[in-house]
Amino acid sequence: MTKYVYLFSEGNASMRNLLGGKGANLAEMTSLNLPVPRGFTITTEACTRYYNDGRQIAKEIEDQIMEALAKTEKIVGKKFGDPENPFLVSVRSGARASMPGMMDTILNLGLNDTVVQGLAKLTNNERFAYDSYRRFIQMFSDVVMEVEKSKFEKILDEVKEKKGAKFDTDLTAEDLKEVVEKYKELYRKEKGTEFPQDPKVQLMEAVKAVFRSWENPRAVVYRRLNDIPSDWGTAVNVQEMVYGNMGNDSGTGVAFTRNPATGEKKLYGEFLINAQGEDVVAGIRTPESIEKLKEINPEIYNQFTVIAETLEKHYKDMQDMEFTIERGKLFMLQTRNGKRTAAAALKIAVDLVSEGMITKEEALLKIDPKQLDSLLHPNFEPKALKAAVPIAKGLPASPGAATGKIYFTAEDAVNAVKNGESKVILVRLETSPEDIEGMHVAQGILTGRGGMTSHAAVVARGMGTCCVAGCGEISINEEEKYFIDKNGKKYNEGDWISLDGSTGNVYGEKLPTIEPEMTGYFATIMQWADEVRTLKVRANADTPKDAAQALKFGAEGIGLCRTEHMFFDADRIPAMREMIVARTEEQRRKALEKLLPMQRSDFEGLFEAMQGYPVTIRFLDPPLHEFLPQEDEDIATLAKEMGMTFEELKHVVTSLHEFNPMMGHRGCRLAVTYPEIAEMQTRAVIEAAINVNAKGIKVVPEIMIPLVGDVKELKYVKDVVVKTADEIIKKAGVNLEYKVGTMIEIPRAALTADEIAKEAEFFSFGTNDLTQMTFGFSRDDAGKFLEEYYNKKIYEFDPFAKLDQTGVGKLVDMAAKLGRQTRPDIKLGICGEHGGDPSSIAFCHKVGLNYVSCSPFRVPIARLAAAQAAIDNSGNLGQK
Ligand code: ADP
Ligand code: MG
Ligand code: MG
Repeated sequence: MTKYVYLFSEGNASMRNLLGGKGANLAEMTSLNLPVPRGFTITTEACTRYYNDGRQIAKEIEDQIMEALAKTEKIVGKKFGDPENPFLVSVRSGARASMPGMMDTILNLGLNDTVVQGLAKLTNNERFAYDSYRRFIQMFSDVVMEVEKSKFEKILDEVKEKKGAKFDTDLTAEDLKEVVEKYKELYRKEKGTEFPQDPKVQLMEAVKAVFRSWENPRAVVYRRLNDIPSDWGTAVNVQEMVYGNMGNDSGTGVAFTRNPATGEKKLYGEFLINAQGEDVVAGIRTPESIEKLKEINPEIYNQFTVIAETLEKHYKDMQDMEFTIERGKLFMLQTRNGKRTAAAALKIAVDLVSEGMITKEEALLKIDPKQLDSLLHPNFEPKALKAAVPIAKGLPASPGAATGKIYFTAEDAVNAVKNGESKVILVRLETSPEDIEGMHVAQGILTGRGGMTSHAAVVARGMGTCCVAGCGEISINEEEKYFIDKNGKKYNEGDWISLDGSTGNVYGEKLPTIEPEMTGYFATIMQWADEVRTLKVRANADTPKDAAQALKFGAEGIGLCRTEHMFFDADRIPAMREMIVARTEEQRRKALEKLLPMQRSDFEGLFEAMQGYPVTIRFLDPPLHEFLPQEDEDIATLAKEMGMTFEELKHVVTSLHEFNPMMGHRGCRLAVTYPEIAEMQTRAVIEAAINVNAKGIKVVPEIMIPLVGDVKELKYVKDVVVKTADEIIKKAGVNLEYKVGTMIEIPRAALTADEIAKEAEFFSFGTNDLTQMTFGFSRDDAGKFLEEYYNKKIYEFDPFAKLDQTGVGKLVDMAAKLGRQTRPDIKLGICGEHGGDPSSIAFCHKVGLNYVSCSPFRVPIARLAAAQAAIDNSGNLGQK
């Protein structure tokens, strides 16, 4: 019989997949003899089974739950539903990967109309008993029965106002009894039945609700953003309640063993007196810093610091802990490896190595490569920053510099981005998990309420997004979409502001930014990464400026230079158009003559910038319509230039129309029909290389023929290239090495890679086109239906962002093997978007590619991801 339920005393930290992160760590803390309230965990397998059984809990599982409950009752010496000696529990979700705030917790379960009276008598604290009951009714109704939380909050606010109470702690026992009566009445009205009184029914309903919450929309979105598979399921933890709401000798809080924003080695946290559960995070009252606990209760503070140290040593990582103090007694409710900013992640990793706690390899594995992104983007230009006057100051919740147009709902922010706005800032009173998508698209987040551990702050740090939280100096009107600063100036939707997440300053203007530097801890980590990785990292770059940036970030070559990008400039496009519309070879050669010097000087710039590192140049690739003149006016000008009539040229333009340009006359097909294009491009590459070589920089250009599907078309173009190149080299009387290779981006090329390798000296997997052609849908149109595919669980991620290892990956693996079979020393690389995606990089390492190539800003990410892949060759990295 499968074991679906484990007492905390039966588990440990290694059982994360089965018990979820929270459950496994509660078990681990229990075995370390830390003060953890007792309880048990219902496994993730039970969740999977619940879904497989048509959303039902099997009798077998229910029996095991009841058995564990009975055992726990025995251990704690209390009884479920017994007014004389009531046992109350919390029901807490907990998946394998931490999904903070994604699923809901129910506290004080087991209370009913009689038990609440017993609890009041037993504790001699009626206020506490009814405070717990009103919390339970609200949470149970909201999470389990889907009665909106706001309806309860409205009642609470009304009672508070009537009684002249500022905070919930100002309400008396009698007030809370009234709240409870009103809550039950609301429940009756909404559900048509009485609030459930049987604790066992409450428990089973709550467990089901946690299982269900695995599929709630915000959990689904979070999983997609974080690469968490949907079949993992969540565990459920049932745990004895301890009470932070028993008076001023009680409280609840969260703390980190090191500062999650900077990495500083110092206990960091917040707590609230006389409070329960999420009160701290929800920003209802302003919490105290953990330092204050030292003054209020030095004994507890010391005990807590010892536990914090123990946990950090035990887990060998910075810990994020949740605790509750019940009448002067400390309880640990959770610990996990804490989320941190990229800067903190680097410092902590390096510090842990110098403290002798972990090895360099372990340190490298601790950093999420994607997170580095936040460090690779600009900061405010110091002079402009100095001159700017902040309009308000909030808490520096997540560092970074953000400039953007303001939007007041997550939806508005998402829509603005969909409509082409590249920089938005989300302004909210406070955020909730429903805002997750809006937070994701935003450059920065500004909230009016909440502390350093508020939802906005925690989530923003996790995403590496700049955040200023709890900015009480501005008054936000979410409904009418504006805020007013302390001087009374009004900012409307669409206005520019800037946020400094490191100081908490808010600026009412668009501030200029500067490029990032890789120094200090960042440089150390990169150096360690370079020591272990075997995969080389190149960049996709088309200009000397991009190439210089790439080099600064540690690129070891250019894996893709798109030559067509060189012709989009206003002063170049006419010559390009002339070449495209040319109807005779003579006309075309005339246009190519104009393009040659431009292209040659571009290549010279690129070769010089790359200082001898390899540069792969892809020959003309795009569908031609991208360059065609559309407006009659442009056609007329061009016609004059070429000595044609308007009608003639218009006719040519029309005749170039393609039904499916992505699969039309493009790539090497251009060179096959117009070999003079390949001749000119070869001339430009080779002459540039000769010129730069003469300056003492050794260049070995790599010429890459795109969109090859058959070895014969590659051979045809290659022959043109070799003939042209050799003639130039011979005439110049120099020695120049060069290589000719191809992209593997058409499935047929992958299938016949052994043939193709006879001609190609290198392969570069163009996984954008390869994905497009393997799936049979285009990247530009996939947006229209992918959302539905996610909703229906057909796809879990965008195959253009993360390599589809099952299908497209199989082609890559196969082509790599076939290529090596023919030509053992063939160089293999990847140059699609996937070259900068950590899980795809792990795959490239596994199948034995020589290098990945990605955009310059992703080079450091790729270096770290490649190092991680070398340390852990399971190919599962980036899969969480
Ligand atoms: P999340 O995963 O969203 O952090 P948790 O399951 O950790 O949710 O629960 C949230 C909060 O509820 C905890 O931080 C703690 O304050 C409170 N809580 C949970 N279980 C108990 C318990 N057994 N006794 C007292 N408070 C609890
Ligand atoms: Mg928690
Ligand atoms: Mg392509």
